[in-house]
Amino acid sequence: MKEFLKHKIFQLITQVADEQNLECYVIGGYVRDIFLKRPSKDIDIMVVGSGINLAENVNQRIKNHGKLTVFKKFGTAQIKYRNIDIEFVGARKESYQHDSRKPIVEDGTLEDDLNRRDFTINAMAICLNSNCLGKLKDPFDGLTDLKNFVIRTPLNPDITFSDDPLRMLRGIRFASQLRFYIETNTFDAIIRNKERINIISKERIADELNKVILSSKPSVGFILLEKTGLLELIFPELLALKGAETKDGIGHKDNFYHTLMVLDNLCELTDNLWLRWAALLHDIGKPRTKRFDPRLGWTFHNHNYVGEKMIPEIFHRMKLPMNEKMKYVQKLVTLHMRPIVLSEDEVTDSAIRRLLFDSGEDIDDLMKLCEADITSKNPDKVQRYKSNFLLVRQKLKEIEEKDKLRNFQPPIGGEEIMKTFQLPASSIVGEIKSRIKDAILDGIIANEYEEARNYMFQIANELNIAKFSNRQSILDDKSL
Ligand code: ATP
Repeated sequence: MKEFLKHKIFQLITQVADEQNLECYVIGGYVRDIFLKRPSKDIDIMVVGSGINLAENVNQRIKNHGKLTVFKKFGTAQIKYRNIDIEFVGARKESYQHDSRKPIVEDGTLEDDLNRRDFTINAMAICLNSNCLGKLKDPFDGLTDLKNFVIRTPLNPDITFSDDPLRMLRGIRFASQLRFYIETNTFDAIIRNKERINIISKERIADELNKVILSSKPSVGFILLEKTGLLELIFPELLALKGAETKDGIGHKDNFYHTLMVLDNLCELTDNLWLRWAALLHDIGKPRTKRFDPRLGWTFHNHNYVGEKMIPEIFHRMKLPMNEKMKYVQKLVTLHMRPIVLSEDEVTDSAIRRLLFDSGEDIDDLMKLCEADITSKNPDKVQRYKSNFLLVRQKLKEIEEKDKLRNFQPPIGGEEIMKTFQLPASSIVGEIKSRIKDAILDGIIANEYEEARNYMFQIANELNIAKFSNRQSILDDKSL
């Protein structure tokens, strides 16, 4: 446990703190992670006195110095040294007002500082002064909670959560990341205080959600969010997936639990946050498209397209990036059924080429998502899907090697068509272009320039294009 104290940086802190007669501890998540044997690069140092002074003095002793940043307003300082990040802060006592999670802060003692911490497992400190070097301060018995995998607030949970409601999400996030249980009193207090989440900024909420999504089994976090009532407040579209209706003896699966299973499955295949988001949102359009047809049973027609359209609303509200990451999530949601539909049918070369063309460089991610989406309880069905899927993967590989279709751009572009036939920009140019593309995807011609150019003349001939040379608008001609 005390191995870390041998690290040069801790020895320096001990030296400087001793010289200045300052009581000094390493505290919070770093201490928790030592006991959990989790790697941690963020070190929090707490000093009874000025954190900024201590940081400045420590940094002067570091050979070539680390990068020191002082946050005067917050009374904190940070040293970035190689790949570690050390925060220095003075011990503080906090009191809260009802409408804000920003506390009134005063200087305090070690005990005051531990009292303001969110969970017992985060309220432990290890002394860095040489007279008590390595000694654990653990007033709320966080070590026992750590051993029992328990999340519990140090003080009255109603006050802890009402003071700073972000802690409710942090608790659920730790439960998901560490696979811990939230102790009953703490859990019930989240339910009682859930509405307080409304004072938390969307960015912070998204930050915690992302950490849940990045945990090894995010369903743990999402089920807790649902059970505490927080999900309804922060992500109602996901909650809308919950429930399984039955009509005329025909039921459908609960799409909330299905979605979580897909997400958990996918987490075994990738750490890509946005691919994980695509799994979380792949069926988000289902509640809006759900119909019961006495002949077909439950249908969710076009749920992928409806889902795709819902994504900008969701990302905007949650203050998630509205950039190429969102577009990537949209693309995967739109396409998420394509490989599986394909595997149910005969796997034709042309269908494979179209899938490659539409997914481009995201084909591997799409295949992962689609494979994670196979969650049937019927083992024969799963087996059948999986072996068909293998066939799709094989075919993809073959066709890709043969036709080089990933990130495929047809060899003849609009410019060339316009120039050759002296056409203005018009829909006819688009038509020629897309017929060339279709011919390549359908295997009628090879993905090569010469063949494509000959084919272009053939189409032009069929469309009687020559007669339009030099004309301003071919769109006026009704014979086309
Ligand atoms: P991670 O690095 O995975 O987010 P962490 O516990 O190190 O986990 P930080 O946000 O770095 O999280 O916080 C460091 C410590 O500060 C925590 O361990 C906890 O003691 C305290 N802390 C952080 N946020 C809060 C909060 N909202 N309320 C009370 N204490 C908090």
